[in-house]
Amino acid sequence: MELIRKRVLVTGGAGFLGSHLCERLVALGHDVLCVDNYFTGTKGNVASLMDRPQFKVMCHDVTQPLFAEVDEIYNLACPASPAHYQLTPVQTIKTSIMGAINMLGLARRTQACILQASTSEVYGNPSVHPQSENYHGNVSVLGTRACYDESKRCAETLFFDYRRQYNVKIKVVRIFNTYGPRMHPNDGRVVSNFIVQALRGEDITLYGNGSQTRAFCYVDDLIDGLIRMMKTTDQLIGPVNLGNPHEITMRELAEHVVRLTRSHSRIIQRPLPIDDPTHRCPDISKARQELGWKPQVGLEDGLMRCIDYFDGVL
Ligand code: NAD
Ligand code: UDP
Repeated sequence: MELIRKRVLVTGGAGFLGSHLCERLVALGHDVLCVDNYFTGTKGNVASLMDRPQFKVMCHDVTQPLFAEVDEIYNLACPASPAHYQLTPVQTIKTSIMGAINMLGLARRTQACILQASTSEVYGNPSVHPQSENYHGNVSVLGTRACYDESKRCAETLFFDYRRQYNVKIKVVRIFNTYGPRMHPNDGRVVSNFIVQALRGEDITLYGNGSQTRAFCYVDDLIDGLIRMMKTTDQLIGPVNLGNPHEITMRELAEHVVRLTRSHSRIIQRPLPIDDPTHRCPDISKARQELGWKPQVGLEDGLMRCIDYFDGVL
């Protein structure tokens, strides 16, 4: 297959997903510009790429305009863990909305195609199950998750209006819970929390009674989905759900982690955070049909890879 070498901008490129995406794009032979303000990402995440001539990293906040010449933009900049996006909620809103405006402006000027890393949180605490792209969601406007959910919803609106008004080439994917190596040990998300606690022999903090569900996608599968989406025709703009439809309760997840780590940790209950969605699972029919994509890595296999990673870094 012939490679068309592109200049690709990845915002949030030093974060968990961004660093895997940068790695994959460099391996595919593209020139990659990674932009990050290191709020939740680290230079260490992209350390293996630093000596590659095709790779550049720039410390920049996407709430400020950016001037660069690029062919494609993956807009990932935004903290994704509830613990982090609720730490400075106003900054979260600015990052999502002003970041989208600045990156869409850049795409407009350079005629680049821009992909938005949106989220299953646009569905809020869903009353439809599993969630397909035509479900409009059930989001609490005033709750503590709203800084993330509502600004991500607004960012999607901006993407569609930049297309309608300025004919910008856009793609929107809605990412469901994704996990893997390079999640920050203090990230606060459930998979990293449980694995780190199990490996340290600490209590495993199950929020609520653990009956709430999620469906977890391994990072390599997700990155494959992002790249496939960018490669599709200009007509396929999304939104497209990307996630693994294997749904489990948080109690089951805690039990899997204890078993796979052979840990002696106890599973203890902690209060359920406000507005914590009770169920979440993607309907990925559209991704299957339009992208020929489906996840390849099963939960146990993915958890083992993640456990090996945390075992090495803790
Ligand atoms: P992450 O927190 O590891 O990465 C986010 C990156 O964005 C970090 O490197 C951070 O420093 C950077 N960043 C934050 N604010 C910035 C700003 N103002 N300017 C420049 N950089 C900034 O999270 P992640 O899991 O890698 O998520 C990446 C993207 O994918 C986010 O947009 C998130 O909303 C989306 N997403 C992720 C998941 C998931 O399960 N991982 C699910 C849904 C959506
Ligand atoms: N959760 C938990 N213990 C933890 C962290 C999270 O039980 O230490 C639960 C959380 O309440 C939610 C689910 O795990 O029901 C997923 O949480 P996460 O923060 O990973 O992502 P979310 O899907 O809520 O954005």
